[in-house]
Amino acid sequence: MNPIVHECEVAVIGGGPAGAAVARLLSLWGRDVVLVTAPSDPARNLAVSLPPSVAKLLAEIGLLDAVDAAGFIRSTGNTVWWGDKEPRSRAFAGGTAGYQVRHRDFDRVLLSGAEAAGAKVIRDATVREADVEREPARLTGDVDGVPFEVNAAMVLDASGRQGVVAKDRGLRVEADARTIALVGTWHSDGGWEVPDDSHTLVESFTDGWAWSVPVEPGLRYFTCMLDPRVSDPASGDLGERYVASLKRAACFGRLLHGATMDSDPWGCDASGYHAKSVAGDRFLLVGDAASSIDPLSSFGVKKALGSAWLAAIVSNTVLSDAALAEAARSIFEGHERQVYEAFRRQAAGFFDQVAADEEHAFWTGRAQRHEEFPGEPDIARFRDDPSVLAAFEALKASPSIRLVVTPQTEVIQSAVIGDRKIVLEDHLVTPSVPEGLRFLRGVDVRRVVDLAGEHDQVPDLFESYNQTCPPVPLPDFLGALSVLLAKDVLRNDAMC
Ligand SMILES: Cc1cc2nc3c(=O)[nH]c(=O)nc-3n(C[C@H](O)[C@H](O)[C@H](O)COP(=O)(O)OP(=O)(O)OC[C@H]3O[C@@H](n4cnc5c(N)ncnc54)[C@H](O)[C@@H]3O)c2cc1C
Repeated sequence: MNPIVHECEVAVIGGGPAGAAVARLLSLWGRDVVLVTAPSDPARNLAVSLPPSVAKLLAEIGLLDAVDAAGFIRSTGNTVWWGDKEPRSRAFAGGTAGYQVRHRDFDRVLLSGAEAAGAKVIRDATVREADVEREPARLTGDVDGVPFEVNAAMVLDASGRQGVVAKDRGLRVEADARTIALVGTWHSDGGWEVPDDSHTLVESFTDGWAWSVPVEPGLRYFTCMLDPRVSDPASGDLGERYVASLKRAACFGRLLHGATMDSDPWGCDASGYHAKSVAGDRFLLVGDAASSIDPLSSFGVKKALGSAWLAAIVSNTVLSDAALAEAARSIFEGHERQVYEAFRRQAAGFFDQVAADEEHAFWTGRAQRHEEFPGEPDIARFRDDPSVLAAFEALKASPSIRLVVTPQTEVIQSAVIGDRKIVLEDHLVTPSVPEGLRFLRGVDVRRVVDLAGEHDQVPDLFESYNQTCPPVPLPDFLGALSVLLAKDVLRNDAMC
C-alpha cells in the first residue's frame, strides 16, 4: 500500500504536553507543523499534580484560559508524611493554586490548542521510524494499518519515555536508581480524612513512597513508587503487589480503610534518565524525550512545557537563520542539561531526609546523587565569592562613587534567548569572566555600565537604571554592581 505523504517544515512526534505546546507555538509563529501522536491506552491513565507556577508557561503558550476552563480540581498545597508519622500540610505560597489533572484530559486541552493554532494533528498514528540523517528528515509509520510518511526540515521528538529518535540513536543514559510506579484509583463515598481534600498526599515508607492525587469528589489516584531491584518484591501479581505496597504506607492504609478500588491497578516505568545530546542538525529532543526527572518533584509537565517553549524558539531560529543554528542548538543543550541536573539535586535532597532514618537501599541509593554541572554565570555562584562580598562591603563604605570601565573590559556578541528567536546581544568580558556577563538576576549589566559614569551616588545610579530599564529590586542591583566591580568590569576611582 502506498503511504499517505505529508510535507511540512516541522514534524512533531507525540501529542503530550511537550509536543502539543511546541506545535502550537510554532504554528502561531507561522510555521507549517504536522504532529503525529500514538493512541493512548485508556486503562493506563495517570493523574498528575501541576504546581501553581505552571500557569506562567501556560499563559506563554496561550492556553491558560483553556486549562482554567477545563474544570480541573485546583489544589491549595500538599500534605506529607515524609520520614515522619505526623502529617505536615503546606499551602502554596501567596494563596496560589495548582491543578490536579488526569493526564489524558490535560493533553486533550493542549492538543486542541495546537490544532486551533493551525498545526495538522494526525491522531492514533504511531511513528515506527525516524530518519533524521537524510534531508529532509522522514518519519514513517501507520494509522490503523495505513502507512504514512512525513517529510520535514526538522523533527521534534516529543514522544516522552518512548524517545523515538533518542533511542534509535543510542542517546539515552539511564540513571542509577530504577523506579516503577504502581497506579490505582480508589473511591470513597464519605470522602477522605485529610486536612484539605484538594491536596496532593505523599507518604514515605520503608522501601518506597506513595502519592495520591484527587481527580473528582471521592475519587483519588494512589500510586506507589518502588525500586524493582531493591524494594520488597511482594509475591503475587501486580494487583497484589500494589495492595501490599500501599499497606506498607501506614497512613495511606488507614485512609483507604472503607474505600473501594475503582479499576485494575497497572504499572509503568518512572526511572529518571537523560539523553547524551538533545540537539542535532535536523532534530531536537523535547520534554521527557530529552530527560525524565523523579515524579516526586511534580514538575515533569512544567519541565516539558519549558522545554517545548525553548524548542520552539530554537527551531524557529534554525529554520530562519543558518548562521545562528549552532548557537541555538548549544543553548538548548545547555538549558536541558541544567534543568535536569537542578531537579536531580532537588530530589536527592528530599531523599536524603528519609535516608537519615531509613537505612533501606531504596533511600540510600537515591540520596547523595548530587552532580555539579558547570552552568552559565549567575548571581547564585557569585553570592559566596569572597571578591564579590569584598566589593559589596567596599561599595557600602564608599561615600561616593566614580565608576569607570576598566581597559581590560571587552564587549562581545553572544547568543541569548530572544522573543521567538535566538539573537546576538552584547556581553561584557574580562579575564575574570571569560564566558561574558549580560544579565544578573534580571539586571542588564550592559546598561549599568553605560550609566555608571554619569552618577556619583549609588542611589542615583539605581534610580536612573530603573527609569530606563524594567525595574529591579535594590538588593539585586547592588549584587550585580558588586559583581561588576569584583570581576574588573568597573573600577571605583572614588576609593583611590
Ligand atoms: C508515575 C508518574 C507520576 C508522575 N507525576 C507527575 C506529577 O505529579 N506532575 C508532573 O508534572 N509530572 C508528573 N509525571 C511526569 C509527567 O507525566 C511527564 O514529565 C510529562 O508527561 C512529559 O510530557 P511529554 O509531552 O514530554 O511526554 P508524554 O506526556 O509522555 O507524551 C508523549 C506522547 O508521545 C506519544 N508517542 C509515544 N511514542 C510515539 C510514537 N512512536 N509515535 C507517535 N506518538 C508517540 C505518546 O502517545 C504521548 O502522547 C509523572 C510521571 C510518572 C511516570
